[in-house]
Amino acid sequence: MYDPLTSTYSFACPKGPVANVPLSAFRFLERLPAAAHPALYRVLFECRCGREHVGLISHDDLDWAPLGTATSLTFRNVLTAHDDSLATELADVAASRIRAGEWPWSFYCCLEGRARPMTPSALAVIAPGESSFAVAVQCPVCSAVSVNLVSRQHVDLPFWNDRRIGVVEHVFRRDALRAIDEFRAELHSVRFDERRLDLQP
Ligand SMILES: [Zn+2]
Ligand SMILES: [Zn+2]
Repeated sequence: MYDPLTSTYSFACPKGPVANVPLSAFRFLERLPAAAHPALYRVLFECRCGREHVGLISHDDLDWAPLGTATSLTFRNVLTAHDDSLATELADVAASRIRAGEWPWSFYCCLEGRARPMTPSALAVIAPGESSFAVAVQCPVCSAVSVNLVSRQHVDLPFWNDRRIGVVEHVFRRDALRAIDEFRAELHSVRFDERRLDLQP
C-alpha cells in the first residue's frame, strides 16, 4: 500500500498497472462515516495516467505507513550478515525523532495562532499551485480548518517540515471545501502571510 523507499502510496488505476503516487497527488481526503474500526478514508488522487481516481485507504496506511512501520521489506545488515526488518529500523528512527520533539508533519492553525503537529489524515484538500501546494488542514486539536501554502517536500516527506510557510488568516468551513474549483477560486481572493513553522514552544 505504501512504499517508504519511494514515498508513494499504491492504488488501482483502471487504465493500467498499479498507480504509485505521493501524498501530494491526493486532492481530497474524507473519512468514511460507516467504518469506525479501522477507520477508512476515501481519497481522490491525480493518477500518473492523467486522470483522477477515487481510492480507499485505511487510517494506519494513510498516517503511519509513511514512517515505514508497516513495510515487509528487509535489508542486509552488514554487521550481522542477516536480513533485518526495515520496519523495525524505520520505526526506531521515527520514534527517536518524535521523542526529540520533531514531528513527521506540521501545519499552522490560524484559529489558535500556532504551529501544530498533524498526520496525513488531517488533510482535507491539496491543491497544486505553480511552485507550491495549498493544503486545507483540519486541526486535530480545535477542528478549525486552516489553509497553508507549503512545498511539495513538506507534504510528501515525513520530518521535512518547511521552516516558513504561507498562511491565510481565515478559518475555512470544512463543508465549503467540497469542490476543488471552488477552493482554487477562494484561494485567488485571499492573502497569504508568511509564518515560521516552529513546533518548539
Ligand atoms: Zn490512472
Ligand atoms: Zn487548532
